[in-house]
Amino acid sequence: MPTYKTAALVLRRIPLGEKDKIVTLFSRDKGKLRAVAKGARKPTSKLAGATEPLVLLRASIAEGSSLDVLSEAEVRESFPKLKADYGLILRASYACELLEKVMEERDPHPESFDLLLSTLYILQRAAQPDTALHAYELQLLAQIGYEPQLSACIRCDNPFDTDYPPVGYSPSRGGALCIPCTEFLHAEAMPCNATTILLLERLTLLTDAKSLAALELPTEALTEINRILRAHLRYRVEREIKSLGMLDAHRLGESQPEKVANVP
Ligand SMILES: [Zn+2]
Repeated sequence: MPTYKTAALVLRRIPLGEKDKIVTLFSRDKGKLRAVAKGARKPTSKLAGATEPLVLLRASIAEGSSLDVLSEAEVRESFPKLKADYGLILRASYACELLEKVMEERDPHPESFDLLLSTLYILQRAAQPDTALHAYELQLLAQIGYEPQLSACIRCDNPFDTDYPPVGYSPSRGGALCIPCTEFLHAEAMPCNATTILLLERLTLLTDAKSLAALELPTEALTEINRILRAHLRYRVEREIKSLGMLDAHRLGESQPEKVANVP
């Protein structure tokens, strides 16, 4: 079997029989792929720790006729700070699942690999993890051609400026709306602030890790960004993103700590 080496992030793993695992990897060179990790369920296996989610590997992969085989894996990063914080684990798991859902197998996207990897590092030290996560969502969408249209109205194509601001968002069309078009499409338009659209644009373009880790947005803006992105994604990612439910429940607890603490 031909073998190649690649940097890869472990997105997911499922047990295969008593001893093995099937891992879903996102490799820098070959894109998303699934591989059998033989013996990886045995705690003594060299592959055991290397085949858990949120691990960066230097992987040797043997190409099989149906499934590839992960023959060797050297752990390069295991993101300890991320794994010490449940909220960050949920956000990182969502980042991985979103990537898994939008990528086809064996379709290389090295820029998306770099984006996910840098997002995992940024999450470990972000002042406001959700801001970094939304930047990731927007930049990933841009890489695969699903980014929201934010600089001109999605219906009439007139460019926005201070005298012609966006006041709505159409999730089905995938872009911001001017005042007349928001009125025209009132049944589907989500009202929003012009500032939110500007912030979405800024987050799409902001790639500097240090700035992203330091950036903090007002809670109301973050809530509106989340609402718009969620609706936008619903029209573009057909499959359910399971980790979102857990992340939402956790966010609710973060925003209302006392209320949740009082639940018997
Ligand atoms: Zn318009």
